[in-house]
Parts: sequence; structure tokens; C-alpha cells
Amino acid sequence: MYKRIIVKVGSSSLVGEDLSVNERVFDVLMRAFKGLKGLGVEPCLVTSGAIAIGRNVLGLDKKPREMGLKQACAAVGQAKLMEKYNSYAEKYGLTLGQILVNHDDFQFRGRMLHLSDTLDSMFKSGVIPVVNENDALAVDEIKVGDNDTLAALITPMVGAELLVLFSDIDGLYDKNPKTDKTAKLIRRVDKIDEETYAFAGKSSTEVGTGGMETKLNAAVIATTAGSDMVICNSSRIERLADIVCGEEIGTFFSRGRGISSRDHWIIFKTNSAGKIVVDSGLKAALKLKKVSILPTGITDVIGRFDKGAIVEIVSDDGAPIGKGITKFSSDLVSAIKGKKGEEITEILGYKCKNEVVHASDLVVFGGDYYGRIIK
Ligand code: GLU
Repeated sequence: MYKRIIVKVGSSSLVGEDLSVNERVFDVLMRAFKGLKGLGVEPCLVTSGAIAIGRNVLGLDKKPREMGLKQACAAVGQAKLMEKYNSYAEKYGLTLGQILVNHDDFQFRGRMLHLSDTLDSMFKSGVIPVVNENDALAVDEIKVGDNDTLAALITPMVGAELLVLFSDIDGLYDKNPKTDKTAKLIRRVDKIDEETYAFAGKSSTEVGTGGMETKLNAAVIATTAGSDMVICNSSRIERLADIVCGEEIGTFFSRGRGISSRDHWIIFKTNSAGKIVVDSGLKAALKLKKVSILPTGITDVIGRFDKGAIVEIVSDDGAPIGKGITKFSSDLVSAIKGKKGEEITEILGYKCKNEVVHASDLVVFGGDYYGRIIK
């Protein structure tokens, strides 16, 4: 059985179409958590609903477009959201703790490790973390943007072995179930590929943010971290213990082989400061094995960055190949691109190791679908 799990509940499950609070879901969720704790499973909750509940309180029937108003809704709604969770947590003798994060809390490794420690201490004290994006302060540059992704990013940090996304849909279908009666629920996905994304289409609701494509991105992030994932309808929250015990409910995504948390951080949690374009020879070499990015294979540099920045490695046609940490600033990479040993020493005025991105600081995407998700 899983030891630690993350449960994500979407806005459309927590409020009705008229934005009224769905009390039953809060109640059932806290009861289910009580049941999990009895089984020795530690849950972490990632919850949406702040903006939707705030809209209800402020009487706004349309999603606000203006950033300030959205943030005001989040500030009002987040407090109400916790009030609701706490009232049902008390009923079942549970203690909750609130954590609000933005992308910066992942991007800066020191902050991420700190967050990880805090979450760990909460688990050790028997507290259930309740996580949401800090929407009241989030602006585009620092936003994660949706809670499916947020929940998946947190997965390796809490050492969760399972992520359950509760939504207003039963799982992943092979066609759109709203428009096609022959649509079949896919029970299990062992490999996420183009076909899986083709099933997802593009959708989002008036109440929440993430559609099925966002959920598949979350599945890539979580399964790459070595965690299983389930998408299922929030009407099944009371079956949470059965899901944790392995019962087939919704769509199950099996975990990948898992990568190191540092590689996971480089791929999914950092924004790249620029791009290094490599030639077809280096691209072909990287397909076979991870090698360092040397100046001879570099054809172009896009963006301005300092030594130590995270950069994306792309091919001539812009296709993403990998991501890594550069040992040279963009100015220096531009100056030494396409050059060899002696020439480089002459340009730099000193002799040094000339790997621009060392193989140990590089993550190559291979046939995986990371390229779709990275920033
Ligand atoms: N963080 C947002 C909220 O609590 C929701 C984001 C999402 O729907 O994924 O309102």
C-alpha cells in the first residue's frame, strides 16, 4: 500500500455552477482522510477553489480577467476555503496546515528544499498539509498557473507514491464523452505518448483552470518522479481508501523508472533563461548517449544569460532536446560557438575546460514528452 499520497481537488468539485460551496465534498474528503490515516497513509491535499469561492462572496458571476480583481477573489476565497476545510477537519479530529506557494518556491532550489523540510515536519507532526497557489500575490512571471501541475510538482518533494486528481470527469476517454456516446474510459496508461495527448483534446471549464491536457502534463511530471497517478471523478472521493488499496477506479497512470530529484528539478521546476542551438551531429550524439555540449556543436545562442543559468538545448528547427546548467554566459557562448581548443583559448585569453554544459549537468529528453511541458 502507498505510504504517502497527494490528493488534488478541483474548483468544479468544490463549488456548484452557481459557485455555491459544495459542503458534502468537504465533508466526504475529510472523512476519507480520517480513514486513510487509520490505514497508516499520510495524505497531502492540493486544493483549488479559492478564486471560485471568492467570486461567490464578491458576487461576480464571470471569471474576472483583471489581475487585481482575481487576486482579491483569491484573498477572500482562500480564507473561506480553509474555514470550510477546518470545520470538517475538526469534526473528524484532523489537524490541517496551510501552505501557499508560487513557481519561485520551486525555481530557487534553496526555497524548494526549505518547502520540502516544512512539509516533512508537518507529516511528522501528524498534520495534513493543504496546499494551493498563492493566487493573491501571483503574477504571470511567478505563477505555476494550475493546481494539477502544482500537485505533480510537489509529488517528489513529499515523497508521494500516488497522486489522485479528483475532477468533474471520470478519467481519460478515447473520445470526448460529452459529444460522443461511444467514448470509452481508458483504465490504464503505462506510456504517455502522442496518442494519449490526442485523446485529451483541449478543454477547461468556466470554474476551474486545468483541462485534460493539463492533467496529462501532470501525469508526465508525477510518473517521471516515480509516482503513480489516478484521474477520477470527485463523486468517488468516498472510495479514496479503495483507490489507495489498488482498486481500478478512473484512469490509472503507472509510474516511470523515476529520475533523480535534481534532474526532476532541472526539467520541470526551473524556467530556462535562454536557449543553446546545437547542430545535427551533436543532436544525433545526444540521442545515443548523454555527452557534454561542446562549443564545436553549438550553432546559435538565444536570449541573455549568466554562467550557472538553466538553459534549454534545442536543435536547428527549435525542437527541444534537453535542459541543463551552463558554465558560460550567453556572451561567451556566442563568442566561442563553433570553435575548437586553441581558438577558444585565444578568444577567452585563458585555457579552461570548454564544456558549455557538462554531461552531469544535462538532462536529455529522449522520446519522452517533457518538451511539451517545460518552460
Ligand atoms: N489556485 C486556483 C484557486 O484556488 C485554482 C487553480 C486551478 O483551478 O487549477 O482558485
